Amino acid sequence: MAKLRGVFNLQSFRQNQLEAINATLAGKDVFVLMPTGGGKSLCYQLPAICEKGATRGVTFVVSPLLALISDQVNALKAKGISTVQWTSDSGDQTSEVLRLLRSSRKPKLVYVTPEKLQLNGATKSVLAELYRSGNLARFVIDEAHCISTWGRDFREAYTGLHVLREEYPNVPIMALTATANQGSVNDIISRLKIEGCVKLVQSFNRKNLNYIVERRKGSILASMVEFIQEKHANHTGIIYCLARKTCEDVAKTLRETYGLKARHYHAQLPTSEKEEVQQQWQSGKCLIMVATIAFGMGVDKADVRFVIHHSMPKSLEGYYQETGRAGRDGLPADCLLYWAWSDANQLANMIKRGNDNQPPSPETLEHQIEGVYMVARFCMNGAQCRRTQILRYFDEDFDPRNCGKLCDNCSEGGAIITEDVSKYAKEMIRLVDDLENDNVTQAQILEVFRGSRSAGVKAKGHDRHPLYGAGQDMNAMLRDQLVAALVAESGLTLKYVLNSQGWSTIYLRVSVSDTLPSLVLLIRQM
Ligand code: ADP
Ligand code: ZN
Repeated sequence: MAKLRGVFNLQSFRQNQLEAINATLAGKDVFVLMPTGGGKSLCYQLPAICEKGATRGVTFVVSPLLALISDQVNALKAKGISTVQWTSDSGDQTSEVLRLLRSSRKPKLVYVTPEKLQLNGATKSVLAELYRSGNLARFVIDEAHCISTWGRDFREAYTGLHVLREEYPNVPIMALTATANQGSVNDIISRLKIEGCVKLVQSFNRKNLNYIVERRKGSILASMVEFIQEKHANHTGIIYCLARKTCEDVAKTLRETYGLKARHYHAQLPTSEKEEVQQQWQSGKCLIMVATIAFGMGVDKADVRFVIHHSMPKSLEGYYQETGRAGRDGLPADCLLYWAWSDANQLANMIKRGNDNQPPSPETLEHQIEGVYMVARFCMNGAQCRRTQILRYFDEDFDPRNCGKLCDNCSEGGAIITEDVSKYAKEMIRLVDDLENDNVTQAQILEVFRGSRSAGVKAKGHDRHPLYGAGQDMNAMLRDQLVAALVAESGLTLKYVLNSQGWSTIYLRVSVSDTLPSLVLLIRQM
């Protein structure tokens, strides 16, 4: 406790931190599942500086990213904790680290990439020495989901970490992650061979955040300003936009037309300007940061009272992270999301272009575009509690009665009814199946389904298909939801063609494995 105040300058522990610290100090293996920003680092940084019982010595922290390691190492050094970074490819660094580990002035923490922790030659013998002399305090596996082939962040070198338990059976292991998928959790535990570990798993629910989702009609600037002036005058907030240009324009209008203290931020700003803008925002001179998602990593301002999405985020995970920057002090904060169908197309185009005009691999493309459809489905689902929807993405069952009416869907009146759209779903799938060879896009299939008389439909002769107009008596909102639901969950997949310009238009295709027994959508009866 004294160290918490004295060294880390914190007042009290957050959920599960003390439990994790005590368990590892008692020599137990620990698995910690905490949302990003929950405070995972303290769970091993504080024990690392405690000399207690059998666990004195050096704490090894395995982390996948150089940037993460550098940030943490610098922060720890600034607190006066002797910490070593072991990441570089140069042999010099390795021999220096090994020399330090042999010396009498051993560091408290060694941050290492999994590749560096290969147990051979000199490394192996130094670790064995530490082990024999009781100076191996624990192994910490940060971002532990990288070990699981279930996840997207799978990293080959992480799989080698099973040797830690085999070579050093008495050294406690702590694994930490923010990935809650039950399959990955079990996979991590069995791959690290820590089956008997203390499991500290907490809900990803952010109780103090109020989620509001609105369909965007035309320009939303006026409505955004009204929201800010009514509820958040003089509060700090973030507005996320998709494009750099939009950030610049929105910030400029907020400043010049509405007199708000807004600045813009995106990846293309010179470093000095980025620092300056961030500093202004951090210190409260600028209140509203209008930014692309380039703004966020490492942003740690406790009193952000609102996060607005000017348009649809790229994935539900991204949405959770971005909105998660609001209300870190635990006080109420608002998360307002504006969206339009065209956002999904714009996002798909951005994804198709890839980073630095390097088109993504087919798997990445498919995965990311399905992620966009999941967001679309979330936006359109105007009935079910937003928390239930978001947390389901993290494999968590959230009872909407615990929402406290802190989301648009729970606070709005009107009964929720379920609409069995299985019949329509089957027809839609059959339609896509039949028209697959004509390469139909989502917009085209919806035209045929609702029986549009457009020239495009006629030109392809789709108006003569027996299922032409099959969905004409269906409510338009439900029809949109149907496609998104089928893509996000089952029945339809997307097909892309790679040509010299990169990935081309996205076509719908029927996924072979899916028979789709039934599909029920929730709607609100007004
Ligand atoms: P994670 O690794 O889970 O994403 P971090 O360890 O980076 O989270 O912590 C996120 C932020 O929360 C940091 O700024 C950290 O200083 C702060 N924090 C962690 N523990 C506490 C605590 N007990 N009290 C207050 N702030 C804390
Ligand atoms: Zn709710």
